[in-house]
Formats: sequence, structure tokens, C-alpha cells
Amino acid sequence: QAKEQGRDRYVFFEPAMDEALKVRRKIEEEMRAGLERDEFFLLYQPIFTSDGRRMVGVEALVRWHHPEHGDQLPAFFLPIAEESDLIWSIGAWVLKTAMRDALAWPTLTLSVNVSPSQLRHPGFVPYLSRSLAETGFPRDRLELEVTEAVLMDHTASAKRIVNELKELGIGLALDDFGTGYSSLSYLRQFHFDKFKIDRSFVTHVETEAESAAIICSLVGLGEALGMKITAEGIETPQQHRFLQAAGCDYLQGFYFGEPMTAAQVMETFHSRAKPMPLAAIA
Ligand code: C2E
Ligand code: MG
Ligand code: MG
Ligand code: MG
Repeated sequence: QAKEQGRDRYVFFEPAMDEALKVRRKIEEEMRAGLERDEFFLLYQPIFTSDGRRMVGVEALVRWHHPEHGDQLPAFFLPIAEESDLIWSIGAWVLKTAMRDALAWPTLTLSVNVSPSQLRHPGFVPYLSRSLAETGFPRDRLELEVTEAVLMDHTASAKRIVNELKELGIGLALDDFGTGYSSLSYLRQFHFDKFKIDRSFVTHVETEAESAAIICSLVGLGEALGMKITAEGIETPQQHRFLQAAGCDYLQGFYFGEPMTAAQVMETFHSRAKPMPLAAIA
């Protein structure tokens, strides 16, 4: 009976699984073609000092302009890219394109997200170092953002890669900090320059005492470890006020600026109109 049911289920599920797989394959092929047709593009989200007055960097965020379905977010296509060598090709394109763009923005730090499989690719560090040489991008203005997933499971090789990256002289930030499994032990083992407090804490900072408490202790932890702290996902002046008072070094979020085209970056850098001075909203 159980076997019978199992077989029924198998017969029932197979076409659906097959369909999902087909869709993924199709998207994969479209991404491959899209890379050749130049359908990927980058937006840059500004990062400010905690008083909100000085723009000190940008984070590159990849987008895909699908010919039929329009602009797509990374949450849609990167997980599929992760399953093949595509993540490597897209990641390589992102790195080089971002460095070329950012050459035009003196003083601004360029943050680039790197996914776990990208980082573990044996060609990653050589490619990065070649790209730095080819573009002439100053390495002390480049920062890679990685999530804890990079450090999980592969501690020995992760350590080697992290050390190689540090030897290159680029910055390393731990992204989405606080959302993973054993963040604290990673902080002990890997000496990152910075961590980014995840948006999920920032969003609830005014309504949840827990979020506020966690943010304050994360800032204390960062200070004790000599790390810089960026808070991400700030959408309101109240959140800005809280995070500035909490002692974050850098702030990022829609309140300060949404992801924008390369052409808009310098304009934003020079405009002091936004955000409003704290005194005006107090
Ligand atoms: P992330 O690195 O944590 O980037 C922050 C995400 O939050 C971005 O979404 C950004 O648009 C969004 N965001 C920023 N400020 C706010 C805010 O105030 N409110 C809200 N609601 N959202 C805000 P996006 O661009 O969709 O990227 C999502 C994730 O995809 C990124 O999270 C990053 O992990 C990954 N990603 C993006 N670009 C790349 C890339 O070039 N390579 C790799 N490997 N991953 C990337
Ligand atoms: Mg990031
Ligand atoms: Mg993040
Ligand atoms: Mg995040």
C-alpha cells in the first residue's frame, strides 16, 4: 500500500518537478544570452556617514533587464545563477564593470557583493587581482561584502581566501550581520573590517525593544572588536536618529538614497539637500 502510494506520488510529482526544472533551465539560457547581449546592469546605492551629511561610498547592486519581462531583481535570478557557472560569469562582469564605473568617483568606496560560490571559485582571487591591475582601481577603495554563508562549512578554505583578499589590500565586510547562525564565532576567526547590521533589525527599531537592544549591543561589539559598522535599510528620519545615536559609523537605506544609475552618483554626492538636518526633524 505504501509502495503503491509512493508510486502514485512519484507519477503525480514528476511532471511538476520537470516543469520547474525546465523553467529554471530556460532562465539559465536566457541569462547566458543576456550576458552576451549586455542585458545586465548595475545600480549603486549611496552610503553616508552617520550624521547623514557626507556620502562616503556606494554599493553595487546587479539588475537584469529581461527583454520580455523587464527589470529583474537579484532575488529572482541569482539563486538560479548560483547553480551553474553563471554566477561566476555574472560576478566577474559585476566586479569589472563596477570598478570601471567607480574610477570616476574619487574618494568613494566601492562595495561589491560576492556570493559564496563565487568566492570559493579557484579563479576568484586571481581574477580580482588582475581586474585591479587592468582597471587601475585603487584597492583601498574596494570592499567586498560577503555573508556568513561564505564562512560556513568550509572554514579552512574560507580562511585561506579571506587571508588572500586581505593581502590584496581590499576591505572585507560581513553583510546581513545578525541573521545567520554563528556570527559571533566567525567574528573571532575572521578579522573583517566591517559588518553591516541587517535591515530586519533596523526596520523594527522603534516598535520592538528587542531590535533596539540587539542593535545597541551589536554596535558595542563592533567597537570592542575595532570594526566599522554600517546599518542598512534606513527608511525614516526616526530610524536615522536612532542609529546615529547608537553609534553606527555608516548608514544606508532608502531614506538616504535608493539604488541609482552610475550617472546619478556624482549628482547625489554633490547635493546636500537630502537628508534633512537632524535639527529640522527633532
Ligand atoms: P544586500 O547586499 O544586503 O543589499 C541590500 C538590499 O536591500 C538591496 O536589494 C537594496 O536595494 C535593498 N535596500 C537598501 N536599502 C533599503 C531600504 O531602505 N529598504 C528596503 N526595503 N530595501 C533596501 P537588492 O538590490 O534587491 O539586492 C538583494 C541582495 O542580492 C543583496 O542584498 C545581495 O545579497 C544580492 N546582490 C545584489 N547585487 C549582487 C551582486 O552583484 N552579486 C552578488 N553575488 N549578490 C548581489
Ligand atoms: Mg550587500
Ligand atoms: Mg545586506
Ligand atoms: Mg540584507
